[in-house]
Amino acid sequence: MKVLKFGGTSVGSVENMQNVKNIINDGEKKVVVLSAMSGTTNHLVAIAQNIADKKTDEALDSINNLHETYFQTVDKLLFNETLNKDVKAYVSDVFNFLIACTYKEFSKVLENSILAQGELLSTYMFNSYLKQEGVKSALLPALNFMRINAENEPDMESIKAGFKAVLNEAEPSDIYITQGFICLDVNDDISNLQRGGSDYTATIIGAAIKAEEVQIWTDIDGMHNNDPRYVDNTKPISNLSFEEAAELAYFGAKILHPQTVTPVRDDNIPVRLKNTMKPEAYGTLINSDHSEVGVKAMAAKDNITAIKIKSARMLNAHGFLKKVFEVFEQYQTSIDMITTSEVAVSLTIDNDANLENIIAELEKIAHIEVDKNQSIICLVGHCIVNHPETHKLFQILQDVKIRMISYGGSNNNISLLVDTKDKINTLQKLNDYLFELVV
Ligand code: ADP
Ligand code: ASP
Ligand code: MG
Repeated sequence: MKVLKFGGTSVGSVENMQNVKNIINDGEKKVVVLSAMSGTTNHLVAIAQNIADKKTDEALDSINNLHETYFQTVDKLLFNETLNKDVKAYVSDVFNFLIACTYKEFSKVLENSILAQGELLSTYMFNSYLKQEGVKSALLPALNFMRINAENEPDMESIKAGFKAVLNEAEPSDIYITQGFICLDVNDDISNLQRGGSDYTATIIGAAIKAEEVQIWTDIDGMHNNDPRYVDNTKPISNLSFEEAAELAYFGAKILHPQTVTPVRDDNIPVRLKNTMKPEAYGTLINSDHSEVGVKAMAAKDNITAIKIKSARMLNAHGFLKKVFEVFEQYQTSIDMITTSEVAVSLTIDNDANLENIIAELEKIAHIEVDKNQSIICLVGHCIVNHPETHKLFQILQDVKIRMISYGGSNNNISLLVDTKDKINTLQKLNDYLFELVV
């Protein structure tokens, strides 16, 4: 069985939902994971923030506006009167729940329950639309099987058993529709797999059922060799290894949730990226093939903090780095990049929740400098470190100030740290040097 995930844009309009119907209606048995309609989760985040800020009137205004937009979509999508009425009743229940939330004390659990409504709405609407179109489908409630453990990792054993049970209870069908993103936590409270998490839902289900393939359908024809939001002339990459895809996703390629390939990599379940609006385009196939070498793609990750730790005592002193790393371990903060010289070590973190404590500890052993608003630019490809063309990347040094370079940590990744204000320029120049100009 295959697992097909459709993102926000793919279910974001009546036209696109028609495309989705045509893609999935091929007589093959499949699981279909849907995101919320595009924009909805952002609206829900804003509503939750209004409730947290006690801006009840603003929250109620947003809720009423979104309710109205959903009614308009239902009217466009569902001409069958019974289904139209039934879905409007469901939509109204959701919006009444949101209104009730504005009178409640704000909490993380309340916020997560609010955020979950987008996927509940899109799946209910789409399932009804398939009914209207005579396509047999069944809804599998994600909250009955998708679960994370105390470390916020998917609880695979419980998910496997839960999915099997939910599938057995469902009406036999070729198309099983479920919600991406949402799950239960160890306390049985509603939680989620973080923003963009529907990709992760798809590969978690893929691993749980040992799927033949997981497909991520979105609004672009696969993983491009650079970030199309910032750079001109980017091109789709037809094949990526699991390792390459994982690095690009972790280092900011928004097309994939950072953890997407983790669940399927060990079982070698291929992940295919496809464009809902252009199904004939090849897209990107992610599998264990490593045959192509050289720089394939780059991505950038923002909100990075660089910490420089300088100490005259570091010279010839063993045990200094151990002390430094222990501080980060104590505050459960992972390090992304690291470079050293005789008197200093520079490193980066992407989670500065404990920054003040970390600095206070480090200041006991060294002089500390902190730079915020940095971006990591990550170049990815098999054996790029030894590839003859890779040297072209160093032409970037004549154009942009590079704060750190990590070269050789692995054969497949080179990372540069730049000020975020230089990010777009760096990405464009690297694109020119590595993919466009013949030097
Ligand atoms: P969905 O809602 O379908 O999950 P996303 O917005 O999460 O879609 O991801 C698709 C978007 O990712 C694209 O529209 C594109 O702007 C962005 N993106 C960023 N980097 C890349 C890349 N390297 N290749 C393709 N798309 C990328
Ligand atoms: N709807 C969620 C979000 O916007 C999950 C997803 O789209 O993958 O983050
Ligand atoms: Mg996404």
